[in-house]
Amino acid sequence: MERLYAHLQARDPGEPEFHQAVGEVLETLGPVLAARPELIDAAMLERLTEPDRQLMFRVPWQDDSGRVRVNRGFRVEFNGALGPYKGGLRFHPSVSLSVVKFLGFEQVFKNALTGLNLGGGKGGSDFDPHGRSDAEVMRFAQSFMTELYRHLGEHTDVPAGDIGVGGRELGYLFGQYRRITGRWEAGVLTGKGLGWGGSPGRVEATGYGNVLFAREMLLRRGEDLEGLQVVVSGSGNVAIHSVEKAQAFGANVLTVSDSSGYVVDDKGIDLALLKQVKEVERGRVSDYAERRGSSARFVPGGSVWDVPADLALPSATQNELDAGAAHVLIRNGVRAVSEGANMPVTPDAVRLFQEAGVSFGPGKAANAGGVAVSGLEMRQNAGRELWTFERVEQELTRIMTELHANVAETADRYGAPGDYVTGANIAGFERVADAVLAQGLV
Ligand code: GLU
Repeated sequence: MERLYAHLQARDPGEPEFHQAVGEVLETLGPVLAARPELIDAAMLERLTEPDRQLMFRVPWQDDSGRVRVNRGFRVEFNGALGPYKGGLRFHPSVSLSVVKFLGFEQVFKNALTGLNLGGGKGGSDFDPHGRSDAEVMRFAQSFMTELYRHLGEHTDVPAGDIGVGGRELGYLFGQYRRITGRWEAGVLTGKGLGWGGSPGRVEATGYGNVLFAREMLLRRGEDLEGLQVVVSGSGNVAIHSVEKAQAFGANVLTVSDSSGYVVDDKGIDLALLKQVKEVERGRVSDYAERRGSSARFVPGGSVWDVPADLALPSATQNELDAGAAHVLIRNGVRAVSEGANMPVTPDAVRLFQEAGVSFGPGKAANAGGVAVSGLEMRQNAGRELWTFERVEQELTRIMTELHANVAETADRYGAPGDYVTGANIAGFERVADAVLAQGLV
């Protein structure tokens, strides 16, 4: 495994995020490879760390002043053994091939853990939608789809949202796909609007799912969410719906954040105000603090992890919680950390939590609720059905509870009780590897 890791680093040197994601998985696979040497003979690690294909393309568009801009678009179709490639699109200046490969790699195992038939992929662009007009976002999305459409299809590759891609962007993308292909193909994208093929509960799913996963971890420790102090980072879709679900379980959520700093609200986050500021006005968390009154203050540039809590839900972006932050959280008595974002906790910090006996839920397990409900959206589209919110939530709860049990049981079976990282990696890996083996030299 060390040889393979060194080979990956040498072959694609500029891809630190991808190497980090692969390294975290390789580190935990020893026990399953020892038990199943046929996977080594089949070069399974080499096959699962090389994407099926990687697409990069130019996205030219015109801004409101008439100036021509050029961004880069990506889609990495990582592994299709379990189903059509499935995974979101991220529009953010930090997006690079390395970031998309890391996200695609994680997505393969995450999707496997949902128990649904979904392959894994990811895409996006270094385009920054912040501060852009609706018309600019539309022109960009149309240009992006004009290149990407030929690689998509309900049985081929099914994107969704991620950072910077929400309902507005998905609407423009779907419209352009429809115009180019002449097909009203609902199942080609998930996260669609409720009136045109979307699923109730998809917007809420990632945040709700993460809280459900965290709750299962806490229940295993003999605790529940009721009355716990919770810190949430981020203020996008995942963060907002983590706040909502944690509050529904009676927890006191103290914080949200964005790239400029964080808000701590002693009375607990006012969800209606947060939604108004972020979802309606597309504002900053500092606007929330200004309007909230004396219970809330905005801390510019600070670390949200300085706020003492029982449960931490990092829900912003990769590598936002490092070893220094982990030390502070542990000192303040944190008992569970569950990743709402993809890889928000650095490997050093993960190790610190595990050594301190803090329950740690890795993103590929904890935040799988989003893609799981995407799978339910595809099921509704295929059957031309529209389920109720209650039915979707019930299914999501079942999926997250079973996923937690599967991961915990796998960790026990491989001699690592309580280690959700090992459990998630091995359970996801085995499901994908078995499908690849059964399908021959693919
Ligand atoms: N972007 C989300 C994730 O990281 C959702 C992907 C999807 O629904 O396809 O899992």
